[in-house]
Amino acid sequence: MRIAIIGGGISGLSAAFYLEQERAAGARLEYTLFESSGRLGGVMFSDRIGDCVVEGGPDSFLTEKPWAAQLCGELGIAGDLIGSNDDQRITYIVVKNRLVPMPDGLMFLVPTKLVPTALSPLFSLGTKFKMLGEWLHPPHAAETDETVAQMVQRHFGTEVVDRLADPLLSGVYGGDAASLSVRAVLPRFVEMEQKYGSLCRAMVASQKKLAEMRKAPGYKPKPLFSSLKGGMQQLIDAVVARLDAGSLRTETAVRELKRSGAGWELVTPVGPESFDAVIFATPARIASKMLAETDAQLAADLGSVQYSSSITVTLGYEREQLKACPPGFGFLVPRSEGRRMLAATFVHTKFPFRAPENKALVRCFVGGAKDQEALKLSDEELTAIVRRDLREIAGVEAAPWFVRIYRWDRAMAQYTPGHVERIERIGETVKRMRNLAIAGNFYKGIGVPDCVRTGKEAAQQMAALAREQHTAKA
Ligand SMILES: Cc1cc2nc3c(=O)[nH]c(=O)nc-3n(C[C@H](O)[C@H](O)[C@H](O)COP(=O)(O)OP(=O)(O)OC[C@H]3O[C@@H](n4cnc5c(N)ncnc54)[C@H](O)[C@@H]3O)c2cc1C
Repeated sequence: MRIAIIGGGISGLSAAFYLEQERAAGARLEYTLFESSGRLGGVMFSDRIGDCVVEGGPDSFLTEKPWAAQLCGELGIAGDLIGSNDDQRITYIVVKNRLVPMPDGLMFLVPTKLVPTALSPLFSLGTKFKMLGEWLHPPHAAETDETVAQMVQRHFGTEVVDRLADPLLSGVYGGDAASLSVRAVLPRFVEMEQKYGSLCRAMVASQKKLAEMRKAPGYKPKPLFSSLKGGMQQLIDAVVARLDAGSLRTETAVRELKRSGAGWELVTPVGPESFDAVIFATPARIASKMLAETDAQLAADLGSVQYSSSITVTLGYEREQLKACPPGFGFLVPRSEGRRMLAATFVHTKFPFRAPENKALVRCFVGGAKDQEALKLSDEELTAIVRRDLREIAGVEAAPWFVRIYRWDRAMAQYTPGHVERIERIGETVKRMRNLAIAGNFYKGIGVPDCVRTGKEAAQQMAALAREQHTAKA
């Protein structure tokens, strides 16, 4: 069976890797991966500047989601996995140009400790009273989807939407709380509200369970984030090294896809080519265009997934130049602060192996769902914006010894209300078609582990089909 994979980011590469594994295990299949750009990896890209590792896209992945670390294990690079320096984890929120640490006991955006929350200057007195009252919130089973902002507002008020929900979600999705679906983005919160009513009580209960687990013999704490010594690019390089080079076609954009008998005809600048099956691992809008003739509903669902853009600006300093910077992982900037910078990570504190002892790296984020226009800014303008914000917020006066900017146009899928139903419909159609599979960051989670998972599941779907067809022929 001949399979085309369209898109060579981590989702498409994972699909190729697991197809390669299936082939080694006896599945009768071959694959060709088409990537429109000149390099493989999509938004996952690391650079080396001096002795520093600079990430263009993702800098790590959540350790609790297993698929990326599993892939590293299968690639033989698990020994190079590194964890975030969680003992130094302090995240600040900018409030009126000042860096205010998130209070102890704040779990995502739910306060679980009374005293640190009561003493924190992050919240006004009104919000603190609302947080206290939240403990009495009755169980609630929402019939329809709502935005994260709506749910957080019901529980904690608008200040928590502005100072926590919005900046935290902007860091993960490049989107804002008022347009992201709570069912898709925070399904655990929906369950907690159904069962407990109060998110605070639910979170405290889950903390207690965790504390019990930690007491179990042999328990080893895991870092919050994992990465690789050589940067996330190491994962891309390791996958590519395990693939058949002849099956990888870069600078080959797929332009059209048509049904051809029971299979597919795919058109690239080189010409048409026939395949038995196709795995899409592109942004949803690309798949939508190509599937318009094949299935209008599927194309409409794919086409309705919106994307936001992201720009990372990394500045390199001498460590001593950042003396004014407080310790910790970095800070988030609520939109109400009126700045274009969304967040900054103190990379040299967050991870080992990123900068030598005497150097420091600050990675700033600009853009997001509410500032698509930022993509039009020149390097000079972006540098000026983040340098001004760093000076005014964190007292960084010094000139960096390098600045590296990466622009990612419409790269972050936005899980808007109705996303769960949309994805269910897409899943059902694809299951019915059988020789079409979908992977990518709009499907089952935006982070790297979920992208790997979608690539793996797409490969498994195709391998099962290849085995079935082979058995039918025999
Ligand atoms: C700045 C930034 C920071 C992030 N930080 C983190 C993080 O710290 N942790 C985390 O877990 N996640 C993070 N993410 C999210 C995560 O990195 C992405 O969701 C994931 O890497 C997306 O992988 P993908 O393969 O689905 O898509 P992409 O990487 O976008 O790859 C899609 C590929 O398809 C190709 N393509 C498009 N059209 C065609 C066509 N017609 N023919 C052939 N090829 C085509 C594109 O060129 C591209 O290479 C971050 C994302 C960004 C942008």
